[in-house]
Amino acid sequence: MFPDFTLRYARLPAHFYERFTPDPVAAPRLVAFNRPLAEALGFDLTAFDEAQATAWFSGNALPAGAEPLAQAYAGHQFGGFNPRLGDGRAVLLGEVTDRDGRLRDIQLKGAGRTPFARGGDGRSPLGPVLREYLISEAMHRLGVPTTRALAAVTSGERVFRGLPEPGAILTRVASSHIRVGTFQYFAARGDLDAVKTLADLIIERHYPSLLEQDKGERYLALVEAVRARQSRLVAQWMGLGFIHGVMNTDNCSVAGETIDYGPCAFMEAYDPRTVFSSIDDGGRYAYRNQPWIAQWNLARLAETLLPLIDDDQERGIARATELIQAFEPAYEAEWLAVFRAKLGLATEEEGDRELVEALLEAMHAGRADFTLSFRYLAEAVEADAPALLDLFDNDTPLRQWLPRWRERLSAEDAGLDAIAERIKAVNPLYIPRNHQVEAMIAAAVEDDDFAPFEALHEVLAEPFTEQPGRDAYALPAPPSERVFRTFC
Ligand code: AMP
Ligand code: MG
Ligand code: MG
Repeated sequence: MFPDFTLRYARLPAHFYERFTPDPVAAPRLVAFNRPLAEALGFDLTAFDEAQATAWFSGNALPAGAEPLAQAYAGHQFGGFNPRLGDGRAVLLGEVTDRDGRLRDIQLKGAGRTPFARGGDGRSPLGPVLREYLISEAMHRLGVPTTRALAAVTSGERVFRGLPEPGAILTRVASSHIRVGTFQYFAARGDLDAVKTLADLIIERHYPSLLEQDKGERYLALVEAVRARQSRLVAQWMGLGFIHGVMNTDNCSVAGETIDYGPCAFMEAYDPRTVFSSIDDGGRYAYRNQPWIAQWNLARLAETLLPLIDDDQERGIARATELIQAFEPAYEAEWLAVFRAKLGLATEEEGDRELVEALLEAMHAGRADFTLSFRYLAEAVEADAPALLDLFDNDTPLRQWLPRWRERLSAEDAGLDAIAERIKAVNPLYIPRNHQVEAMIAAAVEDDDFAPFEALHEVLAEPFTEQPGRDAYALPAPPSERVFRTFC
């Protein structure tokens, strides 16, 4: 049933990882399994054996051919460099080749204390596992590059996070788990051979078109290619009101996928300074800072590659610096493309940026729900819609803005109905709202009730389609249920 492994990372030199076999757990139970993803990965589900799957996804049994390991990496955590982090509780079983011919990592998260565990227990509570499962799958359905969730298993053991909580293991699938921090791990040791090995692996795996480039230009081109993916990724986050929460360099994928869902959250009332993470005191990873943090992380990646970029160090630094500085215009262009589409615009006009910014200011002034403000524009292409106006505490700036926007729509060569459909196709009605995520976790953790998880998961599978009878899932939290802080 398990697809064959195409081992890649395990074939790298031994100092890239530590071999580690998952620690068995007492009483595993499969609580979520992603059948469509499993099929895409090449699992044969005609002979689905739940006991076997439970054993694999808990780490109690290894699928044939797996060579489990914990990856080494370093990272800047909140700006401070740690030269040795690594997978403290995650185990890469190996890579498989999916139905589209792409290599995919299969990793168990919460599989025991690896040699990188330091003070950690190597485990994960059920809450964060369900959170990552639900939100990463929602992000995928929202069209954002992301790691995926294949399975969640409860361990039958308790983990302690202040209080005892049920333990769980998440099976995560990624294009790769190679991070900016992976490059930093070797660069910090002066191991240029390893940096090159890693860069070549990344190019082959994620940026194969760069193989056509001259060897001398390839590594600078890699920084540029990562810049393109990261600037696009963050622009997509911004367009959804998504706040990652821990954009440390070890949580920044070189493949350009959203990775490591910890205290992440979707903003409700629009405020660009919004921070949810309980550990982000300084607001380093606030909504509005995300693009500049991605740029900062890209600079950390470029630093590790400098010796490969140019034999002349001065010239290498100058060229890399130019590339990093160009993150800003690259990102601004991606951002504008995302928000133009959100306003229903398919053409480009002078003044579009100001138009978007004016709406965001009106939303900020009115403390309007980010998601629904955009979604309900579809109702307002012709005349002010009460549903939209009601989202705003003070709707005066919005009322002033709407005629400006309609005037701009008249320059589009599409009818108003078509524009309304366009708006609905890119602005979701359903996102993982924090209060619903918290309620879903509470039901599973406190009452062993997974029905709310399944219901929420099902709604979020079709985020752009109105689902009759499910209005409550679209609405912001009532004041008494608002979530201000999230925890890893
Ligand atoms: P994160 O904040 O989840 O990105 O994790 C940062 C580092 O801490 C990584 O090296 C993780 O592997 C490690 N880590 C997080 N939680 C645990 C845990 N419960 N046990 C061992 N290591 C952990
Ligand atoms: Mg991490
Ligand atoms: Mg994490």
